[in-house]
Amino acid sequence: MAKLDYYEILGVPRDAIEADIKKAYRQKAKELHPDRNPEDRKRAEEEFKQVAEAYEVLSDSQKRAQYDRYGHAGPDQGFTFGDTDLRRARDAYREFGFGGFDNLFDLFFRQGAPQGASPRARGFAGESIEYRLRITLEDAAHGTKMTLTVPRLVACSVCSGSGMEPGSKKHACSACKGHGQIEHRQQSFLGSFVNVRTCPECGGQGEIVEKPCPRCHGHARVKEKSKISISVPAGVDMGSRLRLRDQGNAGIEGGPNGDLFILIEIIAHPQFRRDGRDILSTISASYPQAALGSKLKVPTLWGEETLSIPAGTQPGSEFRLRGKGMPSVHGMNGKGDHIVEVSVDVPTKLTSKQRQALEELAKALDPTR
Ligand SMILES: [Zn+2]
Ligand SMILES: [Zn+2]
Repeated sequence: MAKLDYYEILGVPRDAIEADIKKAYRQKAKELHPDRNPEDRKRAEEEFKQVAEAYEVLSDSQKRAQYDRYGHAGPDQGFTFGDTDLRRARDAYREFGFGGFDNLFDLFFRQGAPQGASPRARGFAGESIEYRLRITLEDAAHGTKMTLTVPRLVACSVCSGSGMEPGSKKHACSACKGHGQIEHRQQSFLGSFVNVRTCPECGGQGEIVEKPCPRCHGHARVKEKSKISISVPAGVDMGSRLRLRDQGNAGIEGGPNGDLFILIEIIAHPQFRRDGRDILSTISASYPQAALGSKLKVPTLWGEETLSIPAGTQPGSEFRLRGKGMPSVHGMNGKGDHIVEVSVDVPTKLTSKQRQALEELAKALDPTR
């Protein structure tokens, strides 16, 4: 597939100033955020990679000049991550899929921070992860505490997250003398130029680990199923997200942990439907109960209630049990209502006594019959 032009990817003219390139990049990155593209994450991810690549080149005056001169087939053969953090981000991105997106995203934003902003935090931030939790409507109404088993990446206990076998050392990379980059001068028909590449020996780190950790193989983190206790507040709804700070994947080399987001799904209830903070259900009454008025037992999320229906209640009439619905997740304004729709039962089988009684009733209602 032919590579798209970096200026076209970002939608900026070829003479765009740096600030406009940054602006266009941020705008695109926002548009392509996975939260904004829930049904098309794969495409958003692919597009974001292109946008990130275009930005990486066009935001760097040296790379941009090279690109302007030689295009994609330039001396750098396109895109290389010179920066250690970017390379790590990209590896994490590959290794853990879209979960790394937020961090890559943050990383670019931090890179784009104005001069004089606080220095970049050490290490690489862990990815935030999402866990889908299915709960019953009852648990959503009352709130619940539970312990989840969440697969996540934690700091390797053997190497304490360093990636090195305990007791082994790092030494400066001999290929790049610790710089992480290799320069070499090339001649072309346009003259000579210096080509800077990420050092292939150390991957741009500038250091070589003598012996990688035998457990994590140098990745510094290992997969683990962690037990995490959570408390789901009363009133959560389908799609509610609970955020547990620092409970996501572990950071690397002192970077902060990601967060854990619990995405709530509520299992369909056999009797109740939810409408915001109100609960709807249907209760059936017999024809005499509806005609004469009656007391009906109504199950609610808060136990059984007695509903008095007046004489002459019509099928489809609604009655409101105040304060028997869902609480507000913010704990304000009390609970919603439970709305009961009364249906009137038409019996499908009659005993001879019932039939006789109904025929009497029919005659009484319509004497001309
Ligand atoms: Zn390890
Ligand atoms: Zn090196």
